[in-house]
Amino acid sequence: MSRIFQCAVLSLAIALASPFVLPTSGTAEELKKPRLILQVTVDQLRGDLPWRYYDRLGEGGFRYLAENGTVYRNAHHRHANTETIVGHTTLATGADPAAHGMIGNVWLDRESGELRYNVEDARYPILSEGAGVDKSTEIDPTQRAARSDGRSPSSILVSTFGDELSLNTAGHSKVFGVSVKDRGAISMAGHAGKAFWFSKQAGQFVTSKYYYDSYPDWVVRWNSEKPAYKYAGQSWSLLNDQSTYRFGNADDRAYETDLPGYGRVFPHPYGPTDGKLFTTLLTVSPAGDELTLDFAKALIESENIGTDDVPDYLAISFSSTDYVGHVFGPSSLESEDNILRLNRILAELFSFVDEKVGLDRTVIVLSADHGAPEAPGYLKEFGFEADYIDPESFDKDKAIDRLKKRFGIDEKLITTYFHPYLYLNRDLIRQRGLDQAEVERAVAEELMNFPGVALAISSSSLAEGGLPDTPLINSILKNFNPKRSGDIYIAFDPNRFINDFEGLTVASTHGSPWRYDTYVPVIFAGPQIPAQNIYRKISTVDVAPTLSLMLGINPPSGAHGAPLQEVLQGQQ
Ligand SMILES: [Zn+2]
Repeated sequence: MSRIFQCAVLSLAIALASPFVLPTSGTAEELKKPRLILQVTVDQLRGDLPWRYYDRLGEGGFRYLAENGTVYRNAHHRHANTETIVGHTTLATGADPAAHGMIGNVWLDRESGELRYNVEDARYPILSEGAGVDKSTEIDPTQRAARSDGRSPSSILVSTFGDELSLNTAGHSKVFGVSVKDRGAISMAGHAGKAFWFSKQAGQFVTSKYYYDSYPDWVVRWNSEKPAYKYAGQSWSLLNDQSTYRFGNADDRAYETDLPGYGRVFPHPYGPTDGKLFTTLLTVSPAGDELTLDFAKALIESENIGTDDVPDYLAISFSSTDYVGHVFGPSSLESEDNILRLNRILAELFSFVDEKVGLDRTVIVLSADHGAPEAPGYLKEFGFEADYIDPESFDKDKAIDRLKKRFGIDEKLITTYFHPYLYLNRDLIRQRGLDQAEVERAVAEELMNFPGVALAISSSSLAEGGLPDTPLINSILKNFNPKRSGDIYIAFDPNRFINDFEGLTVASTHGSPWRYDTYVPVIFAGPQIPAQNIYRKISTVDVAPTLSLMLGINPPSGAHGAPLQEVLQGQQ
């Protein structure tokens, strides 16, 4: 069989396997080339969750991917701090946080001595007035740590797949990132792409001066129609009859977060547009993803995405699964309904892309920035010991007090904790002529005796090396960037969570190195990608190098992952 004939047969087989793909005219040579790389990231989608409800998912979406794509059923993030910016940037760059530098949603900037929110950059203000973070209504604790409303990707230390695509095509590839969360869009758009995210303050999709001097016309048009306001007075209701849900008789749970006016049970009312939490509540429901989809569709159409032979890149990060998971837990009626609705949103996205670009010319890759822990309240129902820990209390602990006396310190030794690092008072340690490494180790040693602490390890020890080769230590090393990481990494025992963010508490919090937080789906679908389930363990750092090899372009500068053979084997 000739190569061209083989290729044509393969394309036909893919066309027949998919309800969306229509046979495209043209030569076999043309059929091989994707016109669009569509990278979908679902925020906080643990690897098992799409399959838990699979029998009740409608057509398309995960069903399309499972029936037509290569599904990695055992994919994990390999870094310890499973937070949003860390996971997104890892997917975009194929690098570990040690190299890409996004070691946490927030870190203490040593130069300024102040906390730094990952994508903040005072040099590049948001284009719209009054679209920054409102600290009085912001429920995202990391957003509240930002000092400036400026945003850019400048803290990402390496290139992304989208960056390399731009470099390879002399800037002819269009590269975009869209998400409700700024960090979900900015990380994926990289340095060379354009990012749009949802401002809860403005109720609009916004961008910053890093990307544009003024909004493109289509964005002005989209925002002027005020799509978010269409939810005024409406509620989030169940898609199906309550009796058909796995968690149908478990709606009202005391451990769920009772947001004012929104409540713990269906239906969840969004309230009027001038309600204090109106736009926040949209993001804690499938409405956030619906708005993201609608904006992405306008972008695809207006920017002529995927309409010529220079491949474009569009990254969409759907944030609702994360907010719903935090507020109600991943095993709740709300999360179950959210997954069913997420599938509809994905189905609509794929169908739209098929119409505008053709799924036979689109490579879809779907994953998640991190998994999700069960809510402690839910775990307790099954007899688990699960609880919350408050690291802000550590400095006042008797053991740390004894240590301070030993070192002749009568002030605060532990300056702050911002997940997952503890920061010591370096100035004080220097002033007293103490050895930083020795103090770090002594504090870490004491912390090891604290209940709920699985491992406390000093950055000096990590820098020095010679540590035992364990999965936990390896994941902490992958997270260790000497210029940004704090003084001590604390990993809590499974089912122990930090959950007091300046008085705000939620049902569940991710960020651990345990499997429930590292476990994510990785699915590739597109031309010449076989339909199959793969059960060997792979890492999220493998995604970007696979896309690079598929397109024959330079891999991102920090990419250390291994290209996925099962995806690439059919490529010619
Ligand atoms: Zn996240």
